[in-house]
Amino acid sequence: MARLEVVQLPVLKDNYVYLVREPATGAVGVVDPAVVEPVIGALRERDWQLTHILNTHHHGDHVGGNLELKRLTGCTIVGPRHDRERIPGIDVEVGDGDTYRFGGAEARVFFVPGHTRGHIAYWFAESDALFCGDTLFALGCGRLFEGTPQQMWSSLSRIRALPEATRVYCAHEYTQANARFALTIEPGNRALAERSKAVDAARAEGRPTVPSTIGEECLSNPFLRPESPEIRRRLGLDHADDTAVFAEVRRRKDNF
Ligand code: ZN
Ligand code: FE
Repeated sequence: MARLEVVQLPVLKDNYVYLVREPATGAVGVVDPAVVEPVIGALRERDWQLTHILNTHHHGDHVGGNLELKRLTGCTIVGPRHDRERIPGIDVEVGDGDTYRFGGAEARVFFVPGHTRGHIAYWFAESDALFCGDTLFALGCGRLFEGTPQQMWSSLSRIRALPEATRVYCAHEYTQANARFALTIEPGNRALAERSKAVDAARAEGRPTVPSTIGEECLSNPFLRPESPEIRRRLGLDHADDTAVFAEVRRRKDNF
């Protein structure tokens, strides 16, 4: 079993770029390289050779470093089949249910449209690691730029069904603002209240709040909790279906 090493690089205002290394073969990937210099610096510090770029979706703060990194290292760019024309330099197209072999590790690909119409996530089951881009955030979820609430809810439903110990390597540090919103949706949730305090403490010390785990998100992220009686009562949606509850939580966050 090949457990990945993960290095978290905070870049730009609030993005996270991840370096992943598979120790058995020395394969090194970078997930959603927004920028070039911090990635090159982190590789050099460790004497790692970049072999792969793994993209989740086409936004500039996720693919901005693609072409320059490929030019500098000759790495292979892996990205969503449904968005191939918008992923600069794409070499390998992957889609739902595919298994991508990364050195001695395997990534299962999930097609998770909603934030964009071609968004994918990479799940390394043996490493309990999920790279989900801008689909699921700590205490939040991505905005629906190109998808419907139905699509996003179906994507998030699949993600929340992953094992509880799965670490959620999302692409932004939005957790503190997400917590403030979440507390307006489910103020009676003890797990949320406690987590929110821990998030404030971490940020006060400049520590990241990412990754969290699927287990934590299921207990406290309002976007994964449309079944919650408190949320339903508060939104006046006691008898609505889960998609409608999710859609209303998302709508309120857009206007928060
Ligand atoms: Zn995005
Ligand atoms: Fe983003």
